[in-house]
Amino acid sequence: MAKFIFVMGGVMSGIGKGVSTSSIGALLQARGFSVTAVKIDPYLNVDAGTMNPVEHGEVFVTDDGTETDQDIGNYERFLNTENSALHYMTTGSVYLSVIMRERNLEYGGRCVEVVPDIPLEVISRLQKVARKTKADFVLTEIGGTVGEYQNLLFLEAARMMRLRYPKDVLFTLVSYLPIPPIIGEMKTKPTQHAVRTLNASGIQPDIIIARSERPIDEPRKKKLSVFCNMEPADIISAPDIATSIYEVPGKFEEEGIAKRVLNKFGMRERGVAMAPWDKLVKTILAPKPPVRIGIVGKYFGSGDFVLEDSYMSVLEAIKHASWAKGRHPNIQWLDAEAYEKDKKKVRELKQFDGIIVPGGFGERGVEGKIRAITYCRENNIPFLGLCYGMQLATVEYARNVLGLRGAHTTEVAQGTKYPVIDIMLEQRANMDKKDYGATMRLGGYACELKPGTVAHRAYANSSFPSKKNGTLLIRERHRHRYELNNLYRDQLAQGGLVCSGRNPEKDLVEVIEIPRHPFFVGTQFHPEFTSRPLQPHPLFVAFIKAAVQ
Ligand code: GLN
Repeated sequence: MAKFIFVMGGVMSGIGKGVSTSSIGALLQARGFSVTAVKIDPYLNVDAGTMNPVEHGEVFVTDDGTETDQDIGNYERFLNTENSALHYMTTGSVYLSVIMRERNLEYGGRCVEVVPDIPLEVISRLQKVARKTKADFVLTEIGGTVGEYQNLLFLEAARMMRLRYPKDVLFTLVSYLPIPPIIGEMKTKPTQHAVRTLNASGIQPDIIIARSERPIDEPRKKKLSVFCNMEPADIISAPDIATSIYEVPGKFEEEGIAKRVLNKFGMRERGVAMAPWDKLVKTILAPKPPVRIGIVGKYFGSGDFVLEDSYMSVLEAIKHASWAKGRHPNIQWLDAEAYEKDKKKVRELKQFDGIIVPGGFGERGVEGKIRAITYCRENNIPFLGLCYGMQLATVEYARNVLGLRGAHTTEVAQGTKYPVIDIMLEQRANMDKKDYGATMRLGGYACELKPGTVAHRAYANSSFPSKKNGTLLIRERHRHRYELNNLYRDQLAQGGLVCSGRNPEKDLVEVIEIPRHPFFVGTQFHPEFTSRPLQPHPLFVAFIKAAVQ
């Protein structure tokens, strides 16, 4: 039977539960175990697809088209595995299954109750993950913080699972220890309270990951040990890391966390292969010249704070490719709307080695993004457009090179005279029915690359999985409703816009590019989702290479 490790959060959110989960997984993997990770999101939304990225962070799309939480992206990057619908659940999706089963009379006429039926559904899903993946370890991250009403039923599931399988279930609490500047001392009380709250749910943590600005010292480990009823060795120091999240597995290894885990499960310690992680960290930390990349978008303002989470995979993909090219990524957020208010501001783009216009939805900031794209095209600044970025690059080209004035995407201008980007037929039906959940073109689709193009060269020169039968066939992930309108394909091509990637089944444009430009590529898919630290994405690598040049 698989071993189950639950990861819960204490004191506050955003302290790295996802990275902690991924890192524990990576260390077990480095010992030759197979590992899989599940994220539980305590929202009523059935999936992350309907959540605003400013509030919830990036929507990460798996190959099977599930719209998940950004932590699933971390699992894929750290563990180099592929996740699916199995690996993600929300309160909404769990309730939905139970209610549908009740409607089908599958409970045989008995009363269906929140407890135990909701936790039982959670447990049966986790067991299904173990069965389907055959993993030695199933890590389950419970979103939110203990003490919230929202995730109680998931804690209940964890408790019930331990009761049923006492030898196969472990609890880890990732908690925060503040060092208030006026006191100047690391305080353990909030974590003590978090543990008490967890105790009230019938759960005693086996391991605490002590997140703080600085390492936790012996006196405070002892204090937590006394008040939380644990051995000091089960309190793992996890100070902030300035440089990179990929340092975390190495740091956790020094703290002996995997050894503790195996010990608690009564399993024998194994030899550990950390060489790939050590090598990666060495590359990241090595001094190197910068490459300056600007991201023109809109999902990063929240009050007075800049949140980078909305574009997490884009950020990671830039980093992976930059490291591979021996550069230190210097990434800056550029607010598309600023170029609408002040047209001259777009000239600031010339300070950058490359510009990315990432995915997006709706009207806000669109003209600013288009202005940025014009600037990149005319001033030979390497440009990579991702999904909406590709669509807007097409709009820009139609307007300013082909002279189709007012060309647009029908997402923004339904009555445009030149709908160069238009809604897909099946998508229009969904929109009419107001059926917005999980109905976009989602997940992995095939793309055939045209020989002699920038995109073809990028993939051909990499180890990215592809099939060759005359042309190069790749598979990339999607999340959109609109497409390059095939009625304009010839006109765009005659005007010099190359279609370098095409979906063979539906004959849809997947990649566009402009020749005789240092680098100008747009993809209808999201290459950022398949970039890995140890296997950077070929298009990002080609983009960074051009940026460096
Ligand atoms: N809004 C665009 C569409 O729905 C692009 C989506 C995206 O960038 N992910 O087609």
